[in-house]
Amino acid sequence: MLLYIGTMAPDKQNITDIELATPEMTEKLVRGCVPRDDSKAEAMLETEEQLFARLDSEVADFFEVDPLEPKIVTYKLKEDLHRAWVEADSDDTSEAPDWIVAFATYSNIIHILSSDVMPPWEGIMDGPTRYKKTVKHEISHLYQNLINKAIPPWLSEGVSLFVAGQDYYQQMRPGELSIELLDELDNAPTDERIYRVGINMVNMIMAHFGKEKLFEIMAIKDKNDRYAELQRMLPWLK
Ligand SMILES: [Zn+2]
Repeated sequence: MLLYIGTMAPDKQNITDIELATPEMTEKLVRGCVPRDDSKAEAMLETEEQLFARLDSEVADFFEVDPLEPKIVTYKLKEDLHRAWVEADSDDTSEAPDWIVAFATYSNIIHILSSDVMPPWEGIMDGPTRYKKTVKHEISHLYQNLINKAIPPWLSEGVSLFVAGQDYYQQMRPGELSIELLDELDNAPTDERIYRVGINMVNMIMAHFGKEKLFEIMAIKDKNDRYAELQRMLPWLK
């Protein structure tokens, strides 16, 4: 019953590519949709439980539903988190990819490395907010279940990255995106490309069509219907 997996380290190159990285538009959209509070002082006064509750209610606001109040289990050891990852996925006996630092399950539980042991990501400068974004990312996966329990991995990751404000991924040119690529990633939850492809697709949908359209796309169950709708919206998508 494994839901889509956690946040991962982005390409090292992303951060240095000023021209292409972190489109201003994305930043504005994220700020507009998801309240952010990067105040260190407030974070220090807030207990972990309060932090989780606040992030949960921010995600609930985005999805326009009541807070789900998920259970959040923190781990001091990566090995323990990875053991939980294997145990949570009854269909998959393979090991957790090394980069997993958090994951969500269908039973409304977030498993995450505790903030003091989460490894730094090379090139990422927003250390104080990174943990919050990771928690928010995982919580977002749970809310997506309310719309559709079978959202393809690339779309699910794109939505979670967007809601969490994790704008670490390099912008893709329209020519780099194709139905063939989306189809290849439709059943590839551990393929690292799902993150960059997903956030690029979600950024485009949000910028040009808005949140209601995004929810509509997420709700489509048949992949061919989804591709047809995406091609209708984005005629360059071949
Ligand atoms: Zn994820």
